Amino acid sequence: MAGQTFSKVDFSKYFQPPSLKDARRRRREAVQIINDFTIPDDMETVGREKRYLIETYGCQMNEHDTEVMAGILEKMGYQETDELKDADVILINTCAIRENAENKVFGHIGALKTLKLEKPGLIIGVCGCMAQEEVVVNKILAKYPQVDLIFGTHNIHRLPQLLKEALFGKEMVVEVWSKEGDIIENLPQSRRGHIQAWVNIMYGCDKFCTYCIVPYTRGKERSRRPEEIIQEVRELARKGYKEVTLLGQNVNAYGKDLKDLKNYGLGNLMDEMRKIGIPRIRFTTSHPKDFDDHLVEVLGKGGNLCEHIHLPVQSGSSAILKIMGRGYTRERYLDLFHKIKRAVPNASFTTDIIVGFPNETEEQFEETMSLVRECQFDGAFTFIYSPRAGTPAARMKDNVPMDVKKERLQRLNKLMDELAAQSNAKYQDQVVEVLVEGESRKNHDVLSGHTRTNKVVNFRGPKSLIGQLVKVKITDAKMWSLDGEWQAETEAMHQ
Ligand code: SF4
Repeated sequence: MAGQTFSKVDFSKYFQPPSLKDARRRRREAVQIINDFTIPDDMETVGREKRYLIETYGCQMNEHDTEVMAGILEKMGYQETDELKDADVILINTCAIRENAENKVFGHIGALKTLKLEKPGLIIGVCGCMAQEEVVVNKILAKYPQVDLIFGTHNIHRLPQLLKEALFGKEMVVEVWSKEGDIIENLPQSRRGHIQAWVNIMYGCDKFCTYCIVPYTRGKERSRRPEEIIQEVRELARKGYKEVTLLGQNVNAYGKDLKDLKNYGLGNLMDEMRKIGIPRIRFTTSHPKDFDDHLVEVLGKGGNLCEHIHLPVQSGSSAILKIMGRGYTRERYLDLFHKIKRAVPNASFTTDIIVGFPNETEEQFEETMSLVRECQFDGAFTFIYSPRAGTPAARMKDNVPMDVKKERLQRLNKLMDELAAQSNAKYQDQVVEVLVEGESRKNHDVLSGHTRTNKVVNFRGPKSLIGQLVKVKITDAKMWSLDGEWQAETEAMHQ
């Protein structure tokens, strides 16, 4: 659909929210790759002497979108600030995956009302996945007049034009395209830090897990050309970045839509990454269904490919996986898990698990517990199921009482704590490679970083180590982090 800008008055007439029915009918048309990002002449210096602040909720895709929006604002002369009161533009980059994240966002928008009254020139914008939901846009229009601008995940490249309308128009600007999505290649980015970087390799998701809103908010699966990705990662290596994470909602589907490149998948791309002089490459998020043998084989080659796999399972029960629409069974997940484990014996594994999905029985929950025990995950994001409006699961009867869901979550988390402690205990007295990312948040005299297996390591050392790969001997393996001593004499070996 063509994009339109709406005022409060005519919104209901024109706004076309992503509809479940339309989104499911993914069209076969080729994805357009667009290189025509521009800033209108009269907006090039509009941000001079002005400041922006972007608040980001949700996943790494959102974090990276924030880097792009920051890049666009900086091209218009804006400078970043951490202080709400100093900001001339505040953007709230939202996440729609869970209800409580949405509630937090509404709470925050509500709190900005006072600031807007004190500073009427302030522009408040809401973007990200929540902005793709009709109910959210309606609620903002009805209850939050302090918001000047709402734009969707497909409209980020239009930020200069939208900001112009918000600055010089009188009404709330709403631009949300309900579309399958293009790829915009020439957007500026203002990356956070100079050590680790995110690189989008694909956008959207076609999996349609029954509980998930992402396929409706982010459009269809579409892959960036490998040459564009390789060039971007090479450039990051040249600039001295030490770690790159390849990003997508379902990275294992990478390349499926690149019809001219026969059978080119994530395995091929990771093989290319191995040839680039960057010490660490990661990827997220995986979907077990599309995780193929070629990728497993390439991961087994090691090199700069890190030994950490995030492999969301969601449930250990094949019956529940079926109603979640995940496209694999417990047995298939375990086969894949063990296959990766054989290829990359030192790999750490993390996962996502939803507890209390509609119809989940005690026995089915126990199947999840037994799968977790078998895989001995190093960590897991565990959640109580909550329905998202517009998804098929929201129409299912949520027949697991909340107290049962909570009790199951507690049991699962207790097991995860035990497994995390066991897994970390194996590091006691080991010397590990740590990428030093900065000072520890809790103690500024302590440095903090991650191992290749994604374990947090804290140790004392000079600040000059920030950004370096160093050797650390683990002296105290805690449940969720490792304390250690910097092995100064081996540092030079791994630069
Ligand atoms: S794979 Fe499933 S859970 Fe993940 S983004 Fe796609 S639909 Fe959502």
